[in-house]
Amino acid sequence: MIYFEQLAYLFAATMFIMGLKYLGSAKTARKGNLYAMFGMTLAVAITLLISGIIGPAQMIIGMIVGSLIGAVVAKKIEMTSMPQMVALFNGFGGIASTLVAFSEYMEPSTLPVTMDVQITIVLSLFIGTITFTGSLIAFAKLQGLMPGRPIVLPLHQILNIVLLLATVVFGVLNVVEPSLPLWPLLIILVAAIFGITFVIPIGGADMPVVIALLNSYSGLAASATGFVLHNNVLIISGALVGASGIILSQLMCEAMNRSLFNVLFGAVGTDDSSGNAGTGGGEQKTVTRYTAEDAAMIMDTVQSVIIVPGYGLAVAQAQHVLHEMGELLMAKGIDVKYAIHPVAGRMPGHMNVLLAEANVPYDMLYEMDDINDDFQNTDVALIIGANDVVNPAARTKKDSPLYGMPILNVDYARTVMFVKRSMGAGFAGEANPLFFDDKTMMVFGDAKAVVTGLVKSLKEE
Ligand code: NDP
Repeated sequence: MIYFEQLAYLFAATMFIMGLKYLGSAKTARKGNLYAMFGMTLAVAITLLISGIIGPAQMIIGMIVGSLIGAVVAKKIEMTSMPQMVALFNGFGGIASTLVAFSEYMEPSTLPVTMDVQITIVLSLFIGTITFTGSLIAFAKLQGLMPGRPIVLPLHQILNIVLLLATVVFGVLNVVEPSLPLWPLLIILVAAIFGITFVIPIGGADMPVVIALLNSYSGLAASATGFVLHNNVLIISGALVGASGIILSQLMCEAMNRSLFNVLFGAVGTDDSSGNAGTGGGEQKTVTRYTAEDAAMIMDTVQSVIIVPGYGLAVAQAQHVLHEMGELLMAKGIDVKYAIHPVAGRMPGHMNVLLAEANVPYDMLYEMDDINDDFQNTDVALIIGANDVVNPAARTKKDSPLYGMPILNVDYARTVMFVKRSMGAGFAGEANPLFFDDKTMMVFGDAKAVVTGLVKSLKEE
């Protein structure tokens, strides 16, 4: 039986690795999800059945109830609220590891409890609890339940160091004198505080990085719990989550041209999109307003258009009508491309998912580095609900939270068209000087309404 179990675990682990591989490209991502789902179902089923925790009937009922809840949540959740949902999932993963490790401490499943198991119990309690409280804070910030800006306490870093040292001391005492339940409880308490003090100084546009990092922690906690339980599939799946989370954090830092250290300890960022007027210092400047009909008339005379989607496209759910507009332009012989900034929207790959949902062909989507040189030879850069990812302040304004982040070079195009509802700033709260440029046309309105108007006018012309 033990061989069958290990064989099934090996198969499940292979499914996870193949799932990750296929998730690497938009074309194969669905397949990747299916492989990973299959692997996880197998791993859970084998664990429950072989350990005799529950019978097949209970298991099937549990799977049906769980799948129904999952399906309803997935259907109901807005795409723009995904980061919050991921934060909660990470938190639940973390607390699950803490609870399992604590129960193993209280009632070990294998005796005697060796020192390596004691050490992994400490790691599991510590990382799992940090993940839990840190994720709850990240959720509260993203959901607007608490201020999104960085909150820095007096002597914040010293407090963090004291908490870390306290954990090491309690951890060592736990290994040396494991009979006292006081140590694990103290570790949980200190880790809970550390999770909070770790996440509150992070704010604004840095939140996605911390979510990816907490995702990685939830994996590390699960992996440590796998060592506690001597469960190979938990060790492997936890390690995969841990590694992919840290790689994603690193990639997002690179996209923002920041180091992970600066994101975690720099206390950079402002509150969420505050709707500040984009004047940048109170000067009286004017912008040129246009209607969807004006925009369509110009479109009818050009040869090339690069569409830059952003968060507002997701809010307005304008992806389908945008695709229709792209097709209309192409039917008129215009060269149409989509430029995707790595942190556009509110989650990694947000724009790719949105445009894939509207069946925009993958080969029309270009990564920032592949398209940035094309703007200078392009007639129109059409920016739909994006702001930070095209804000030239990122190049020049040293005190800006965006400073140093590579942007899409839309300002090099011959004409720049912004479709947005107001002069409001983007996520980073930074005014966008490009609104006032002579070659910029501001088409104010909800993205779906404006693009629908554009489609109507293009059809009439
Ligand atoms: P921004 O948040 O910079 O700008 C979005 C713009 O969309 C706003 O200025 C808003 O202007 C406009 N908008 C909102 N609703 C609508 C609507 N219904 N119709 C038309 N326009 C609308 O988005 P970007 O995509 O340019 O940049 C993403 C930002 O989010 C970056 O700072 C990034 O770091 C951060 N971030 C990224 C995450 C990720 O993983 N991708 C996760 C979390 C944050 P107005 O109100 O005037 O309409």
